[in-house]
Amino acid sequence: QNINGNAMLMPPPKAPPRGRKSNVVDEVEKLRKNREERRAAQIIERERRQQYYDPNNANWEFAIMIKEFRAGLEMKPLTAADPVLDHRICVCVRKRPLNKKEVGRKEIDVVTVPSKNIVMVSEPKSKVDMTKYLENQNFRFDYSFDETCTNEMVYWYTARPLVECIFEGGMATCFAYGQTGSGKTHTMGGDFTTGKAQDTRKGIYALAAQDVFHLLQKPTYRHHNLDVYASFFEIYSGKVFDLLNKKCRLRVLEDGRQQVQVVGLQERRVTSIEEVLQLISDGTRCRTSGVTSANQHSSRSHAVFQLILRRSGPRQILHGKFSLIDLAGNERGADTTSADRQTRVEGSEINKSLLALKECIRAMSQNKQHLPFRASKLTQVLRDSFIGERSRTCMIATISPGITSCEHSLNTLRYADRSSQKNIAPLPLP
Ligand code: ADP
Ligand code: MG
Repeated sequence: QNINGNAMLMPPPKAPPRGRKSNVVDEVEKLRKNREERRAAQIIERERRQQYYDPNNANWEFAIMIKEFRAGLEMKPLTAADPVLDHRICVCVRKRPLNKKEVGRKEIDVVTVPSKNIVMVSEPKSKVDMTKYLENQNFRFDYSFDETCTNEMVYWYTARPLVECIFEGGMATCFAYGQTGSGKTHTMGGDFTTGKAQDTRKGIYALAAQDVFHLLQKPTYRHHNLDVYASFFEIYSGKVFDLLNKKCRLRVLEDGRQQVQVVGLQERRVTSIEEVLQLISDGTRCRTSGVTSANQHSSRSHAVFQLILRRSGPRQILHGKFSLIDLAGNERGADTTSADRQTRVEGSEINKSLLALKECIRAMSQNKQHLPFRASKLTQVLRDSFIGERSRTCMIATISPGITSCEHSLNTLRYADRSSQKNIAPLPLP
């Protein structure tokens, strides 16, 4: 700046150049060198591109970028040896592998799970001049499961710690939340990977039931004289249907003390894992019976499977309850502008219930007395699961890894991220 405080626009005049000729030679030499370097870089770049260039894949440039991005990361995935957290509210994410169809159409996997609690989404973007670039977004959760994790592994960190809670007289809920096709039913109901039939034995419903029977035999709990019951129902467009009773429509009543009852819901006493597996397959069959596309229907309804502990005796007093929920596809909540009235109504109902769920979990995390449970049928029937010091919940957000699901995956991650804004209250000591 000069003395007037103005920025000087011109550099101070230099002394006239001496030895003009040698200077020109230097310049030319410099230019030549630059050009050579640029060419060499171009050749490397071209070779690199040739290696990946794929005329059948419009996104091959993004594929390179993601590959290089990952190469620069230190991968330290969750292992079976990692500690299990003792949170009242646990929020985690599960990424499924690309399926055959997606691999067939050369979908790019844009989700990276570098460590046990981080999920990264590389969103493909283009600048105005059409240059492509990735916008990487990171999210943090209690656990993040990559595409190699099995249902058993997911169960170990999510639902398993909650089984003990119902023996201690608490209420537990475990939700699978995500886009249709992202793996909610695979996680909760069971694996489809071996053949066409679902392997219900490997779903979180059955794994939890197995541990319930296991704990029932433990000396600590044997003297409680507990019986195990199971119920299975569906919430579709704000109405409740019993999956263990031919989809009979059920009414939900609330008494003066805000106790919510699903009137007439079948609760079957179960004494072995085989009986539970049978109920799960019967209920699942009932859920999708008479429907042209099973996923079409299940994407629009919430399925609630409950394991209930009651004290033996004439009054069958409730001891604890574990609700395992396969939620409606979260993209359906956006169907509120559809031309079809039915779809629109269903969409707004789903939207409402998923928002209410988030609010209830948030209220639970803040130990609030008031729960906005009346905002939806889903939260209404689960009301008693959100209250009390001993209630615990776990959200498993499932995401599809493909580039075409990017927007939905980001929505799912943001929902889970916000519903986990928690002041984690420590568990009361037993
Ligand atoms: P949603 O219930 O969320 O609509 P599904 O559970 O039906 O999704 O999953 C869609 C498809 O992806 C199924 O064929 C399922 O077997 C497969 N899939 C989902 N999650 C996984 C996973 N973790 N590993 C392997 N395949 C999976
Ligand atoms: Mg499903």
